[in-house]
Amino acid sequence: MSYKLEMLQAYFGYRGFLPGQERAVDALLEGRDVLSIMPTGAGKSLCFQLPAIMLPGVALVISPLISLMKDQVGSLVQAGIPAAYLNRSLTERQYALALERAWQGRYKIIYVAPERLESPGFLRFAQQAQISMVAVDEAHCVSQWGTDFRPSYLKIPAFLDSLPKRPALGAFTATATPEVREDILQKLSLQDPVTTTTGFDRKNLYFEVRHPQNRKDELLSILLRRQNESGVVYCSTRKAVEEVCAFLQAHGVAATRYHAGLSPEERQANQDAFATDECPVMVATNAFGMGIDKSNVRYVVHYNMPLDLEGYYQEAGRAGRDGSPADCILLYSGRDVITNRYLIDQSQAPEGVEEEALSALRQRQMDRLKTMTFYATTNDCLRHFILRYFGEEPPSPSCGHCSNCTEGWEDVDITKEARAILSAVDECGGRFGVTTIADLLCGRENERTLRWDLDRRRSFGLLSHRKVEQVKAQIRHLVDQGYLALSDGDYPVLSQGPRARELSAGSTQVTMRMKAGQSRTARRER
Ligand code: ADP
Ligand code: ZN
Repeated sequence: MSYKLEMLQAYFGYRGFLPGQERAVDALLEGRDVLSIMPTGAGKSLCFQLPAIMLPGVALVISPLISLMKDQVGSLVQAGIPAAYLNRSLTERQYALALERAWQGRYKIIYVAPERLESPGFLRFAQQAQISMVAVDEAHCVSQWGTDFRPSYLKIPAFLDSLPKRPALGAFTATATPEVREDILQKLSLQDPVTTTTGFDRKNLYFEVRHPQNRKDELLSILLRRQNESGVVYCSTRKAVEEVCAFLQAHGVAATRYHAGLSPEERQANQDAFATDECPVMVATNAFGMGIDKSNVRYVVHYNMPLDLEGYYQEAGRAGRDGSPADCILLYSGRDVITNRYLIDQSQAPEGVEEEALSALRQRQMDRLKTMTFYATTNDCLRHFILRYFGEEPPSPSCGHCSNCTEGWEDVDITKEARAILSAVDECGGRFGVTTIADLLCGRENERTLRWDLDRRRSFGLLSHRKVEQVKAQIRHLVDQGYLALSDGDYPVLSQGPRARELSAGSTQVTMRMKAGQSRTARRER
């Protein structure tokens, strides 16, 4: 057995590597930079912990979360690996003691918060010590375009340059769209890195989107069909967590709750109740998750639509970590989009983001929200949608294991509707967005349509036999197909698309995939 495998077994008790681990380990052992992109639960930590043990000197791991550092250092020490962390959770004395031990060369791995890289005491140590390598955990924090920007991550290259000899640098992340990936390469100044991706596909997860009339009832029916199974219900606000948890308990579901507004004691107690399956259902905000490692979670339901697909996939991915089948169900309502837009508008600038950069940042967040909304409303394979978003080419034409692949679909001829929609857009001269045009076509007399005298337009009520949601879906489909165009910006407006002429020339037939149930009602209404 090779020395590497011996160490793997001796310290971690594993017989072999998981996909992607060995390449990252080898590269770091050779002193090369690494960019490693692995979904949550794929075994990132080992990629830097094993080389840290094998290389002479001490490895630094830069990590943004105090709780994560504690967990990881705790399990390293238990495994007999001398490790410590340096962050602001330590008292002055504890910190001084840890640093003293570090000076004595007692540690193989030291976890540091990025802010520490500038503290004189730590710098003095780092410049004298033999640093074997530096690992940056949650490397997407370096990107302003990512979801958890940490300005102090930008100081990492300067820190490396200040060392007598630049050690190998490994960057690790679970969430990297191509644009964030590029940002990590640049901002961390990675030098000719070995790049490894494990693949984001989690084959045991079934993805499903539902558009329920009544969310609470829908949730209850989902849970009642999964009694005795463990699951997480994510809500977007603390208030929703309280409500949903109380509602479930009132209906006899053994649910508990978790959000940042609870006392540390209650959070711990509830997390334990969930971990031991005393309460198999956890209702929580996204504060719940970092650091939990429960393998038998059989389903994750999102009661509200999250802000972006990165967040969604990370949270949904907490299901089925044991590799057995599990369900990821998103409950979508148009109201989520409005709430999320509001949340983005109201959000404070993250520390270190200049005022000028803020509007660009918000724009990115709005774009990500748009993508999330497309996921919730697409008729295409959900798994493909996710994988393409993360820059992966999905393998086969469709996955066969998501609600869009398994539910019955029919191609419905919507040419007539398409002409009506186009005529409304033409009549209004590119001034309105999807909602207003849909209201106009459905003949809705509301504040929006009346303010603009839309009830006097020829196209008013042309599709009054249709539901507004349905017309909106058709409009989005026409945008997808290039018959209509949707402008960018805060108030996207509709105009003719490049293919509009085909439609007005009467030379084309427009079809749209609809769920079998929906298309039946569509036909009955005709
Ligand atoms: P990540 O940081 O990517 O979310 P972790 O490093 O926490 O993932 O590892 C996820 C799980 O995989 C852990 O339970 C860990 O014990 C396990 N694991 C890691 N490497 C191996 C390996 N080589 N063989 C078996 N299990 C492993
Ligand atoms: Zn699919």
